[in-house]
Formats: sequence, structure tokens, C-alpha cells
Amino acid sequence: MPSLKWPSPFPNGGSEKAMIVSLNEKANPAAVKRELVARGLWIASELRDGNGAVRQFSISPGSAAISVSDITSIEGVDVVTTSKSEHPLVDKQGPVVQVAGITFGGGNPVWMCGPCSVESEDQLKRAAERLASFGVPFLRGGAFKPRTSPYAFQGHGRVALGWLRKAADANGMRVVTEALSEGDVGTVSEHADMLQVGSRNMHNYALLKSIGATKKPVLLKRGMAATLEEWLLAGEYLLGAGAQAVVFCERGIRSFDDTTRNLLDLGAVAILSHVVHAPVIVDPSHGTGRRDLILPMGRAALAAGAAGLMIETHDNPGEAKSDGPQAIFLDQMGPLLKTLQNVGNSR
Ligand code: PEP
Ligand code: MN
Repeated sequence: MPSLKWPSPFPNGGSEKAMIVSLNEKANPAAVKRELVARGLWIASELRDGNGAVRQFSISPGSAAISVSDITSIEGVDVVTTSKSEHPLVDKQGPVVQVAGITFGGGNPVWMCGPCSVESEDQLKRAAERLASFGVPFLRGGAFKPRTSPYAFQGHGRVALGWLRKAADANGMRVVTEALSEGDVGTVSEHADMLQVGSRNMHNYALLKSIGATKKPVLLKRGMAATLEEWLLAGEYLLGAGAQAVVFCERGIRSFDDTTRNLLDLGAVAILSHVVHAPVIVDPSHGTGRRDLILPMGRAALAAGAAGLMIETHDNPGEAKSDGPQAIFLDQMGPLLKTLQNVGNSR
């Protein structure tokens, strides 16, 4: 029986590559299949010869963390061939990256906090002072806002970038903020330590190339209907264009159920963290849309392998220009982060 290691079931890292398992002449296909299934592999298809006998099994990528040598050792297996990774630059980057002197994936969770939208200079000053006192290294806030409705607050734009920079500098913080269009990239990169690609723009390849070309570190949010592979390939675009580092951010995907704003996909976080070995953080604010779920889902995210959390906060959420219902009161942030800090993460 294959051993199940605990607490880490990923002893060698996993494989997210497709595999073809070819059988030798003497193989008993049913016996080989039993061995493959026992190892947790998903058999995508059985390839047969002209007489209808199974000669190969095709294994789905990502079905388990099994080494090729383990499969080759199964009686009846001739050779195992694996596909090449589609994202070599993401693989090469590895799970630990430095952004403006802060380590993601080093075992200490990284916090990125601030309002959904940058609303005023004074608001940012208050937020940065408090957040810095709680040990938050990254100040977030949207200057250019991607809003579903054209009638909703669109952000203060360039002037808000200046407020972000000033508030962060005054409190020893770094700035992470979104570049919404190719036209914003220059000015955002002048003000930010890390450029954010929003969920709605993950598939905007021209924007990815232009952001990558700044050579800055990037926070890449998952498209709300993007597969893991599409998300990783978006990271590959950024690194290929020159981005210094890419940190992935799971922020929830669309589901059939609107009980939560989005469906926070923590399985994807475990795969990115433990199988792909990429730095990934989680945004439970957009992932749930509910203030009361930030703590439990933040804990779950860290346990799943997240290298940090992005959390929206506001000193007066009732007055927020966007996303008030999910914003944590500034006063609650200290105790919240203290509780989350104690969870650590599973890496
Ligand atoms: C944000 O973080 O400001 C934001 C708009 O989030 P998302 O792109 O995940 O919707
Ligand atoms: Mn928001």
C-alpha cells in the first residue's frame, strides 16, 4: 500500500504534468490499473491496440504527487512519459520570492491591507498609521478601480497614487495597487512597489506584457473564471515580459451559488503552494464578500499553504465608496492579524 505521509502528503512535490503509462507485453492491464488508482492517479483514458487490449493509460495532470520511478516500478509497466511544463519560468521562479525586501513563501505570512478604494489623502494616512502599527508591510488600495457598473465610483486615479505613496513612505510600508489599463502602467509603476493585475484583467495579455516590461514585481489575481493552467500561463506572460517576481492571488471564482460573493478556491491554493511550488496569497475579502468570514477563511487559506493574505479594511465601512460590507473595521485589524499570525501556514 502506498504510504500516506502526514502532515505533508507532498513528499517530493507533485506532478502537474500529463503522463502516459505504457505497458509491457506481459502486463495485466487490470492489475496495473489497480496500482495506479491505489496511488491516487486519475486515469483519463485507456489506449487500446487493434485487438482491443489496453496498451497505455493516460493520466490526468494534477491527480497526485507521484514520482515517475514509483510508477515505473509497478509490475507490467514498460515506460512512463511525461509532458513538459507549459510554464517553465513560473517553475524556475520557485515558491519563495522577495518583493521590496519582504519574503513571500518563507514561512511568515505576509499581510496586504488597506481600503478597497483610495478615497482621500486623510483616509490613507489614518489607515497606514494603524496598519503599520500592526506590522502590516503592504498598503493596498485602488486608485484605478475596475467597477462592474460604469456608474459606480471609478477611483481618484493618479492623485490617489500620490496619496498611497506618501502614506506608505511615512509609515515604512510598501504599496501594492492595480494598473487597470496599459495607459496606467507607467504612472502606477512610478508610485507602486508591486503592480496588481485585477481579476477582470488576468486574460488581458497586452496589459500583462506591458506590466511585465516595467520589471516590477506583480500581484496576479486569478480571473474569476480562469482555470489554474490559464492563471499560471498569465504568470508566464508576466515573467516572460520581464517581471521581477510574480505572486499569485486567489480571490474567488464564479459559482452557481451567490451565498458568498465568490467561491474561494482553496484547493487551487494547495495545488499552487504544494504541487506547483509557486508563491500564492489569498484575498478572502473578495473571495467571500463578508466581513464575518475573513477570519475563518483567512485561517483556512494559511492552512492550505497561502504565503499571505490580502484583506480590505476601512475605518468606517458604512461610508466606504466600494466594498463596505466586506471591509474589516480598522480597529478590528490588530486582533484579527494577531489571531491569523498564530496559524502560521502549512509550508
Ligand atoms: C481589488 O483587489 O481591488 C479588486 C478589484 O479585486 P479583484 O480584481 O479581485 O476583483
Ligand atoms: Mn474591493
